[in-house]
Amino acid sequence: MVGSFLNVVAHRLPLGKSVVLPSSACPACGHRIRAWENIPILSWIALRGRCSACHGGISPRYPLVEVAAAGLAVLAYLHFGWTLHALEASAYLWVLLVLALIDWDTQLLPNRITLPGIGAGLALGALGLLHRDWSLVPLPKAALGAMLGYALIWLPDLLYRRIRHRRGFGIGDRKMLAMVGAWLGPLAVFDVFALAVFAGAILGGLWATIRRRQIQSAIPFGPFLAIGGAVAMFFHPLI
Ligand SMILES: [Zn+2]
Repeated sequence: MVGSFLNVVAHRLPLGKSVVLPSSACPACGHRIRAWENIPILSWIALRGRCSACHGGISPRYPLVEVAAAGLAVLAYLHFGWTLHALEASAYLWVLLVLALIDWDTQLLPNRITLPGIGAGLALGALGLLHRDWSLVPLPKAALGAMLGYALIWLPDLLYRRIRHRRGFGIGDRKMLAMVGAWLGPLAVFDVFALAVFAGAILGGLWATIRRRQIQSAIPFGPFLAIGGAVAMFFHPLI
């Protein structure tokens, strides 16, 4: 059900629409989605990926995001057990997922998600001062992580602009890595940055080759930050 909501956020937020109202409708014919057509994963299978009114295709991305959201929560549970940490890790991973989707679609990382994401990481850090089981990292580490995350994108971008006279990273990328830092702390930020750059170089290079684009063409970096942020969540000390 969270995954279903993330689909709505990823679709509507970049358009400036409310994520609550109106209820979902087929974008092709406007058919209002009935309750039985709105069950995560199962409805898409029952409808065989088609709108019941106009038979227009429904992207397999919808059930895939629902499966991914559920899978991330299961991984968080397997890692942390029945703890607050598992809940916080799930929320963190869901935010990364929706940011990856929006950046993939629009090459934007909306402030309306990244800034509250930073705030939530810091707020949980403050809770962690009361009891260490209540947050993944305590406030001083969360604050340092946020600043370091911001700087780690901002500095290379600054250098790149001086040398090449164009942008290396988007401004949203800074805030996304700042958010990751606020949730995971300062040391993990280095892992996330390294993983994201590594994944971006390999997958972006492949993408450019397959699509026959120039190796210098812009790709959204958010999905790679999301991959790095998710991997570091589970394997940070190991990495
Ligand atoms: Zn339709």
